Amino acid sequence: MGYKKPSLIEKVAEKLRIIPDLHKDKYQEYEEDMRQFSDEEVAEMYENFPSPDRWDDWVEYDPKAWPKKVKKTYQIIPTTCFNCESACGLTAFIDKETQEVKKFEGNPHHPGSRGRNCAKGPATINQITDPDRILYPLKRKGKRGEGEWERVSWDEVMDTISARIRKAINEDRHNEIAYHVGRPGHEKFMNWILQGWGIDGHNSHTNICSSGARFGYNIWYGYDRPSPDHANAKFILLVSAHLESGHYFNPHAQRIIEGKMKGAKLATMDPRLSNTASMSDYWLPTYPGTEAAVLLAMARIILKEGLYNRDYLENWTNWQEYLHAMHSDKEVTFENYIQAMIDEYAEFTPEFAEKESGVKASMLVQIAREIGEAGERFASHNWRAAGASNLGGWAVARCLHFLTVLTGSVGAKGGTSPNSWNKFSPTQPNPPKPHKKWNELHFPKEYPLAFFEMSQLLPHFLKEGRGKMDVYFTRVFNPVWTYPDGFTWIEQLSDEEKFGIHAALTPTWNETAFYADFVLPMGLASERHDINSYATHGGTWVAFRQPVLREAERRNGNPV
Ligand code: SF4
Repeated sequence: MGYKKPSLIEKVAEKLRIIPDLHKDKYQEYEEDMRQFSDEEVAEMYENFPSPDRWDDWVEYDPKAWPKKVKKTYQIIPTTCFNCESACGLTAFIDKETQEVKKFEGNPHHPGSRGRNCAKGPATINQITDPDRILYPLKRKGKRGEGEWERVSWDEVMDTISARIRKAINEDRHNEIAYHVGRPGHEKFMNWILQGWGIDGHNSHTNICSSGARFGYNIWYGYDRPSPDHANAKFILLVSAHLESGHYFNPHAQRIIEGKMKGAKLATMDPRLSNTASMSDYWLPTYPGTEAAVLLAMARIILKEGLYNRDYLENWTNWQEYLHAMHSDKEVTFENYIQAMIDEYAEFTPEFAEKESGVKASMLVQIAREIGEAGERFASHNWRAAGASNLGGWAVARCLHFLTVLTGSVGAKGGTSPNSWNKFSPTQPNPPKPHKKWNELHFPKEYPLAFFEMSQLLPHFLKEGRGKMDVYFTRVFNPVWTYPDGFTWIEQLSDEEKFGIHAALTPTWNETAFYADFVLPMGLASERHDINSYATHGGTWVAFRQPVLREAERRNGNPV
């Protein structure tokens, strides 16, 4: 560890001032302290962005007119991206001549994304100008899936759907109404409404996504997601490819690299040589389904070599209860507890883990030691991948969190916090009474440990005659494409006996909307109101998505 020489690319980037000069003080002796960006360096990063005091009248050359120098004047309005859950900051550039949005760029004042976006953020311009986008409520003509539509009014949509919902509720057919979410984004608002209707009507995609990992975390500490502080970590362990495909991948990616630039080591556990793995100090290409064995072997090394955080374990775990319950013959001492844990995991030797996973024993011993040495500054994450696609995948997050507990990095600077600690969670006023219904199409009794709705089974249950959906909403969700058996969805969505009315709320056409009765347009990043707060890093923020043209009018003193 210690001082790390800049690479050639870093040297050139620093010289050209593309990135701040991170090596001028040879700061990376991070045993003493981790480097933070100074105010001047942060200001330097912002120099490439228009400063907010010029947002109402920003002039720049039109790149399309090149080589001519044609000046364009813009009004800049902030909003947040709607193309994944990170909700990165965007700034919309509105041409002051035409009042049209011309482009989207990052917003350096957004604490999560800090001005940096993935390609999908600026691509919002393609979405709002897409000639095929859905602009009006559409109603099906002809049979479902035939592709014939007519424009209808919102009044007709509201009257038809609400009358049907009301009838179902009055006739005690509560199980026949569902709001199936792909991307939520309206922070509990819809749950509040469903509760007001007194129904168990929320359905999600989570069981084919993050449910496995969430379960593993939740049974440790009651929070179902991790929030790693990558930027301040000394060792980062990623299960799967977080630089390019993890949850909050852009805000995470920039902080993982920031951590690395400050000297942190990065290990990636992924069968694929992903971009993330290729940027890592260690790549652990585990055979799928063997990740937990590797993590337990690491845990055992930390225990055996005394690399654990005694203070944390003594004060924050129920080790005495464990000894009472499992080793009542032993005296209740911390030393006896540690020995009992070493014995508990006796089979998880490095050699056993190597045989199981294909990862060399020497490498996992090395990583375990470095994790132990990183102490509280051990950041880690598991979301989909290993947690989602293996029988027992939930155990991966559980075993990963075991390392977090052993190092005492739970909630520490440079460690891994529960996600709710880094997220503002609004509460709605006047909450309705909890509903008294249990929808067995979502939580069937034969799966009592289901952590989220067993949504992948819905069309199969309908096919078996276990119920029907009288009013079914899909919301930014495409089950025909997303679930493994899209053709079963098509078969059931085509059947009006199974799905009475299907309303697809979507900003774009998709395979599921094609089988709807109503296709209801939604606003994109620059067209809607939402409040966002997500655990993108070690900090909490709240952002506001807004219709930028309307906001521009308001700022210009015009009625909106
Ligand atoms: S990472 Fe950020 S910019 Fe990219 S899609 Fe997600 S929210 Fe948008």
